[in-house]
Amino acid sequence: MLIKDKEFELFLSSEVIRKRVMELASFIEVDYKDRNPLFLGVLNGCFIFAADLVRGISSKTEIKFVKISSYAGMKSTGKIVRTLNVENVEGRNIIIVEDIVDTGNTLIHFLDEVWGCKPESVEIATLLFKKEALQHHLNLKYIGFEIPDKFVVGYGLDYDEEGRNLSDIYQLKSKE
Ligand code: IMP
Repeated sequence: MLIKDKEFELFLSSEVIRKRVMELASFIEVDYKDRNPLFLGVLNGCFIFAADLVRGISSKTEIKFVKISSYAGMKSTGKIVRTLNVENVEGRNIIIVEDIVDTGNTLIHFLDEVWGCKPESVEIATLLFKKEALQHHLNLKYIGFEIPDKFVVGYGLDYDEEGRNLSDIYQLKSKE
């Protein structure tokens, strides 16, 4: 599949993703029984994952979204553009929801800010994790899939704002 100037190939089907997201939802439901967790979804990429994840949980939960990003095109810039407004975090059990953890730059800064709001606990749920690209120590409690350090699109993830609407996840095709 061609998106802008790049060729992508199928990597994770919507069915495989759906099953894993439901698994994560059931782990969270058990771990957070009677704790009314507050999900903080990191926009834009998490919007589909977050929507599916919370719908897999039948106990009481809340969700808010924040917008932070360190990406431009296909590269992490290391700079965080923040339009964040974390309110009512004090004393809450927070679950940060990310589409993908790559270098970890985005989360490491955001975690500081969340902890500064005196929550009771903070954990991270990420659909995808590029372990080889990680540059920080991060404790990722809920991981959907560990994936190779290759660019992916679909299921909320974009390539220069395109491809977020795809139900499956596609990976950048290697040049033969
Ligand atoms: P990090 O700060 O390097 O961990 O990057 C995290 C953010 O970069 C994610 O929330 C995504 O928005 C974006 N990102 C990282 N890798 C990819 C990718 O392969 N495809 C699309 N977006 C990505």
